[in-house]
Amino acid sequence: PPADPCCFVVFGASGDLTHRLLVPALYNLAAANLLPEAFSIVGVARAEMSIEAFCEGLREALSKFATRKVEPDVVERLLACVTYVQGGPEDEASFDRLAERLRAIEEKRGTRGNRLYYLATPPTAFAPIARALGRTGLAAEENGAWRRLIVEKPFGTDLASAQALNRELLAVFEEHQIFRIDHYLGKETVQNIMVMRFANGLFEPIWNRDHIDQVQITVAETLPVGRRGKFYDATGALRDMVPNHLFQLLSLVAMEPPSRFDARAVRSAKAAVLDEIKIETTDEALRRSVRAQYLAGTAGRETVPDYRATPDVAPGSTTETYVALGLTIDNWRWAGVPFFLRTGKALCARRSEIAIKFKQAPLSMFRHMPVEHLTENFLTIGIAPEEGISLQFNAKVPGPSVAIDGVDMTFRYKDHFEAAPSTGYETLIYDCMIGDAILFQRADGVEAGWRAVQPFLDAWKQAGRDGLATYTAGTDGPEEAHRLVGDHGRRWRPICG
Ligand code: NAP
Repeated sequence: PPADPCCFVVFGASGDLTHRLLVPALYNLAAANLLPEAFSIVGVARAEMSIEAFCEGLREALSKFATRKVEPDVVERLLACVTYVQGGPEDEASFDRLAERLRAIEEKRGTRGNRLYYLATPPTAFAPIARALGRTGLAAEENGAWRRLIVEKPFGTDLASAQALNRELLAVFEEHQIFRIDHYLGKETVQNIMVMRFANGLFEPIWNRDHIDQVQITVAETLPVGRRGKFYDATGALRDMVPNHLFQLLSLVAMEPPSRFDARAVRSAKAAVLDEIKIETTDEALRRSVRAQYLAGTAGRETVPDYRATPDVAPGSTTETYVALGLTIDNWRWAGVPFFLRTGKALCARRSEIAIKFKQAPLSMFRHMPVEHLTENFLTIGIAPEEGISLQFNAKVPGPSVAIDGVDMTFRYKDHFEAAPSTGYETLIYDCMIGDAILFQRADGVEAGWRAVQPFLDAWKQAGRDGLATYTAGTDGPEEAHRLVGDHGRRWRPICG
């Protein structure tokens, strides 16, 4: 059913995120008749711009970034409810103007005072905008109308800054009004992890240390840092990917079954499992991590210069473009099971997957086939480029003698479902409009993620360039990452080829 009548107010309306992802997502919602009849889009940015110029920009964005065929009547319907307000948090009067405009729109369009504020600005503007909304009385819910805030990533750059941002937001909004986005949770395959685990009786009985040998989570990219040198050099692979995206995957795989499928229970279960990742000392942090930078090479058919030669990257930068972690989750279910995480740029292949390895058969009754020669039983959840699930197991090779080979049983999303082409953002925007926070991060979950990575940030800062490894662009990462899993008697699943 269509969402509640509401106003969608986007701060950072002239920016890349709005054009590349939000407008196409709103278009998809409009085309699927999921937007309410009483609806309005209010763009806010500091630049002076006429409403015509703003709409023209949105039209152009749709022609470039739409994920499905653009129907002119849907575009016109969407653009008919667009307004632009020039302003920013430094300009107090602009928020008064915004408040006035919102009241006028609400009266005209019947959006009932419900408002979704989307912070699509640089993170430095998140708290100032929230404060300005509070100051002008735009944040408080009144007369049955809801006021919700979507906050983009990055949510802080370490534990202290994430806590500070939570404090700032919670000084103005209540927790139930705050929707912290992690766009990985908009991906179908990621949402499917919960369905796979909890809608099937098959997996849960073996989902523990008795049967699972290790878990590997990989998010490999072929793209180098390219034009994002300024942002990336201040951020690095760990901050950019681990406390948010990789930990979302880890927590969905490792959390205890929530008592019900609602935002409170699911988010409590996810935060609890992140709390059980504990790194006690600097030594342990260094032992359990590998960080590396790429050197010139060829990745994804592109010639890539050294990371340090990337525009806007400091010549002596120690920012990592690759990170691998060997974590443990200190609870009853997972004691002793290593969780290996790795992510990096300029690698040999684009691949995001979770691979769960089950324990080997205890002995081999087949002559000439010792246990260690049998195919390892990996259950792999593919997120990109192929979405699906596959299971590797051993099968008998046809013929008079008993020969054994590894085979795959594979489910591909695209073979079974005709999914509407999506940006990944429409589910999240729609869920926020209907007040379902299950796919958004709660304050404690975000902080638990940062708390778990903080020891690595601290240890690396202390170590400086010591221990910073390198890898050639277009390979599967640094040798040291192989040693990290090798020390636990395991091997990475191949990502190249
Ligand atoms: P962008 O292209 O630089 O756009 C930033 C927008 O914010 C512009 O509309 C800008 O317009 C406005 N803005 C800049 N400084 C501001 C300030 N101090 N106060 C208020 N408004 C300000 O950035 P973006 O790529 O769209 O990214 C926006 C946010 O989304 C970031 O937090 C980013 O991490 C996140 N994000 C982006 C993507 C993506 O694909 N682009 C993906 C995931 C997450 P004015 O200067 O005119 O105000």
